[in-house]
Amino acid sequence: MEVFDITVVGGGIIGLSCAYTLAKNGLKCILIEQSTFGGRCSSASLGALWPSSPLRLSAYTEAHWESLRIFPEMAKELEETSGMKINYQRCGSLKLLTHPSQHKNALLEAEESTKHPNAPDMKLLTEKELADLEPNVVPSPLGALYCPSAASVDTSALLEALIAACRISGVTLREKCTALKILRDGDKISGVYTAKGEIRCEKVVLCCGSWTSNMDPYINRFATITPVKGQACILEGKHPLVRSIVRMKSSYIMQRGDSLVCIGSSTEPDSGFDEKPTGDVQKKILENAIAFCPKLKSYSTKAHLAGLRPRSRDRKPYIGKISEIDGLYIAAGHYKTGFSMMPFTATYLSELITSGNSEKLAPFTVSRKVKGWEK
Ligand SMILES: Cc1cc2nc3c(=O)[nH]c(=O)nc-3n(C[C@H](O)[C@H](O)[C@H](O)COP(=O)(O)OP(=O)(O)OC[C@H]3O[C@@H](n4cnc5c(N)ncnc54)[C@H](O)[C@@H]3O)c2cc1C
Repeated sequence: MEVFDITVVGGGIIGLSCAYTLAKNGLKCILIEQSTFGGRCSSASLGALWPSSPLRLSAYTEAHWESLRIFPEMAKELEETSGMKINYQRCGSLKLLTHPSQHKNALLEAEESTKHPNAPDMKLLTEKELADLEPNVVPSPLGALYCPSAASVDTSALLEALIAACRISGVTLREKCTALKILRDGDKISGVYTAKGEIRCEKVVLCCGSWTSNMDPYINRFATITPVKGQACILEGKHPLVRSIVRMKSSYIMQRGDSLVCIGSSTEPDSGFDEKPTGDVQKKILENAIAFCPKLKSYSTKAHLAGLRPRSRDRKPYIGKISEIDGLYIAAGHYKTGFSMMPFTATYLSELITSGNSEKLAPFTVSRKVKGWEK
């Protein structure tokens, strides 16, 4: 029987980054994944890293801003450790303003961003400034809200770099290995029973994304997570089209390298665990994007992606201990922000596990009260 300090269950962006950070901090770690590393929701992500609005200020917003601030440092470290490029770029983001109410809101957002020391800069651009910055985007007479610190990352490259960094840091990596049961000795973790045998360990971290509540009915009592299907497209053309992440309503486009344009995304909360991409949604995604960037019409489809975003009851992740069982931890439910919240999650979960404390994680506890839900 194999013996480790800790088992991380689930090898998406969250499990990979937690396993890497835990191993770097000296723990003997195994990461098990039921399919392939990074192959589920994380493979559908486009890697847009834009900050939460200062109009929705909360502990979560502050954590999200912090995560984006430490992203470049973690990106650099991962590139150095893995020897691979992940193409983190501070490209900025633009929200196109098409209605007077949006313009009013954007003014408030820009004003509010000056009041908080950690808030990202935001400013309004006129129609002319917008046209100068993004000549391939249909100019909006009301201009745009610009956030220069928003960034993007090549998600496939980041996942590959994390797998390599895990290996180099001594994580035992196991694909096609499903965790079937969390083993307990009284109220203490004693291991994980998998389809490939038993692993002995005193600590377990659940990073199973949309499948976290299915792991064990016991987990569902503390942390209910449901899948919300999302689809996106990657198009290919001859020339770069945009500099920034350009958003209009729920649609956004973003350049990846010189020839690829990523287009997001649908939100389909009633699709259950169905992960298949569908033609009707693809058509809608393309139509929405072409409406503000007509040159996309001549681009061809390179990839059509679908994944299950893990959503908790209040749409914020659970990161921390499940206190009722000694040694059981969770990092799941990141919904639309798994990549942008990755540095915060991995850094502070690892701090909690290695030092026994992390004040930063208090807002993410599984025992938080969620309005409208009985816990
Ligand atoms: C179309 C789309 C676009 C997106 N764009 C962005 C974006 O631009 N920026 C951003 O920050 N986020 C984005 N997201 C959200 C982001 O992809 C998710 O928040 C993130 O991938 C969640 O990561 P995860 O590791 O928790 O889940 P997953 O990637 O789903 O990983 C969980 C893993 O656990 C494994 N697992 C489950 N049960 C078991 C078990 N019993 N045993 C072993 N393994 C198990 C699964 O196989 C899976 O690989 C997007 C999502 C979608 C769908």
